[in-house]
Amino acid sequence: MAMALVIENARVGDLFGTYWEQGHVVVEGDRIARAGPGPAPALPGAAVLDAGGRLVTPGLVNAHAHLYSALARGIPLQRFDPTSFREILEQLWWKLDRALDLDGVYHSGVVGALGHLRSGVTALFDHHASPGAIEGSLAALKRAIEAVGLRADLCYEVTDRGGEAERDAGIRENVRYAREERVPGFFAAHIGLHASFTLSDATLARARAEAEALGLGYHVHLAEGKEDPVDALARYGVRTAERLDRFGILGEGSLLIHGIQLSGAELELLLSRGGTVVHNPRSNMNNAVGAAPVGAMLARGIRVALGTDGFGSDLLTEALAARLLAHHASGDPTTLPDPQLLSLLRENYRLAEGAFGVPLGRVAPGYAADLVLWDYVPPTPLEAGNLLSHLLFGAISEGIRPRTVLVAGVPRLRDGTVTGLDEGAALAAAREAALRLWRRM
Ligand SMILES: [Zn+2]
Repeated sequence: MAMALVIENARVGDLFGTYWEQGHVVVEGDRIARAGPGPAPALPGAAVLDAGGRLVTPGLVNAHAHLYSALARGIPLQRFDPTSFREILEQLWWKLDRALDLDGVYHSGVVGALGHLRSGVTALFDHHASPGAIEGSLAALKRAIEAVGLRADLCYEVTDRGGEAERDAGIRENVRYAREERVPGFFAAHIGLHASFTLSDATLARARAEAEALGLGYHVHLAEGKEDPVDALARYGVRTAERLDRFGILGEGSLLIHGIQLSGAELELLLSRGGTVVHNPRSNMNNAVGAAPVGAMLARGIRVALGTDGFGSDLLTEALAARLLAHHASGDPTTLPDPQLLSLLRENYRLAEGAFGVPLGRVAPGYAADLVLWDYVPPTPLEAGNLLSHLLFGAISEGIRPRTVLVAGVPRLRDGTVTGLDEGAALAAAREAALRLWRRM
């Protein structure tokens, strides 16, 4: 049996109501063996981590990431004067992703994965695009994430914007990765699709055939900007979700990203099909595409999760942004209260359990030992009922960060130091890769 690790003298809690003011967690192998109040039982030979009264929670899950965007920080753009969401894509993201080669994919993957690790995110769902280097791109991304040590569900964003050859290569990369590179518990797959307005019926039919053969759900942007419904109505005579439903895309296990420009009939359709809408408030505000009707979706019973859409990787700040956007957009400071916000974060765990086949999100025996020791000793009373508030406001006002992060029982961040790679060297290599990338744009 693998050596046990005992975390003691910790404030231990999760987002499902567990909290012990003075608690312990015992990790054996990749799972939590026991957890509870008071000191840990004596375990001869076990390693001991004294939390010093700091907070320990399960690792977080990001339901929508774009690691390929990680080398965009500080990018010089010759022209950036977009007047629409489509022009934001054309002037920045579709230039950046086209300039990526496999080296750029790898380094952006390392930088993006490090950002997630240092934000306490131990599992993520990535939506990848690199139309200049499609074949093998998910393998390069996987190698980068493996080096940092996270769990990841990967896919390639299939699109028609680069013509048939690129479209076919994108489908092949999804299939190749799903067939050859999945690792139970660590690397999972979806079939990636960009968005309705860049996908023909023929492409959606091909993607559907592959998804059904592999038994996979879809990861697709849905009604983010106005482009999506305008295009679907003009070309197909229906709204966006209605069009995607013709291809069976909205079902359980599918990740439907954004869901902003939706009609009441489309919301009913989403509810009946069972897919999960993933909300990304900071990206939505940045792109000026509006606010998804999260409260209304939850009230109807639609599943809603939370992602960052490549706008950083700090899921706690994203969760607070979800609340701020809801208040601001509605003019009502009671919108998206704790129970609703908690339901988003819990849906992230449900999605990850489905993808990775491992119980995640609770501090309880049998659950995955994905644990974060936050560098946080609360300045005000902390209890089960206000743990979320401590996380949100601690994150925004104190910048609480993880001190130690375990993924499947393995310390991937230990006392602030990344264990899987030399972080300084990785960032130096990333800066070089970013310079090469920017010169190609
Ligand atoms: Zn996205």
